[in-house]
Amino acid sequence: MSWEWKQRGSLSFLELPGWSELGVTAAFTSRNGGFSTGPFTSLNLGLHVGDDPELVIANRELVGKSLGFELNRMVCCDQVHGREVAVVDRRHAGRGAFSLDDALKGYDAMVTNSPGVFLTAFFADCFPLYFFDPVKRVIALAHSGWKGTALRIAEAALKVMASEFGCRLHDVRVFIGPGIGPECFEIDEQRKSQVEGLFTFSDDIIYSYNENRMVWDLELTNRLILKESGIPEDNIESCHLCTGCRRDRFFSYRASGGHTGRMAAVLGLLE
Ligand SMILES: [Zn+2]
Repeated sequence: MSWEWKQRGSLSFLELPGWSELGVTAAFTSRNGGFSTGPFTSLNLGLHVGDDPELVIANRELVGKSLGFELNRMVCCDQVHGREVAVVDRRHAGRGAFSLDDALKGYDAMVTNSPGVFLTAFFADCFPLYFFDPVKRVIALAHSGWKGTALRIAEAALKVMASEFGCRLHDVRVFIGPGIGPECFEIDEQRKSQVEGLFTFSDDIIYSYNENRMVWDLELTNRLILKESGIPEDNIESCHLCTGCRRDRFFSYRASGGHTGRMAAVLGLLE
């Protein structure tokens, strides 16, 4: 497993060649190459951030075209920073792709074994978690910000992969995409004690960075949750790209003061 930036037409995507060899499209967009302007410059893919919806749909069309799928194959949930996992199939294709109104309500993760359905979620600092079981041919995509991490959404997604599709944990591979790195995610005392109450390994994930700044390492937290859930360490890969540091490539909610666009994580089994 490893990741790389790939240029496709006018867009560049972070992709997983090892997964594409196995018939899986796994991609993360950059912020560049789209039609949006101002704080959404330019490949904003979020319909919920105040951008012109027509431009967002045009940007989504561009992503679909570059990755090789029609927008009516995209499925999106409305992302409420919870831990509910939707089981998705062909019947859900197109939900949330053109409008927020029919996105899957109340979910932050999706699981499917249906080829030709492209699970899509939107990010600016939260972590995309990509799951793939090459034995059962099941995929899952989760939106794990600090709230989803605290709620262990990674574990919730794995439970549904196991219960609904019979996935065995030692077969499942996980990719942790770009998100807010520890150096950019300072927390206060209140949050620190909250996190300490949630994880036995809190000493590893909360540490001081540059003298007195206390930070929370969300990427490592997700990795340790995955390990605790039974995923072998060798099956987990991270890209360690920080959305807060790499504003040339990414939108960052924190670094922009909240008014910004969204990247997309896309995961689909090829037909
Ligand atoms: Zn950073």
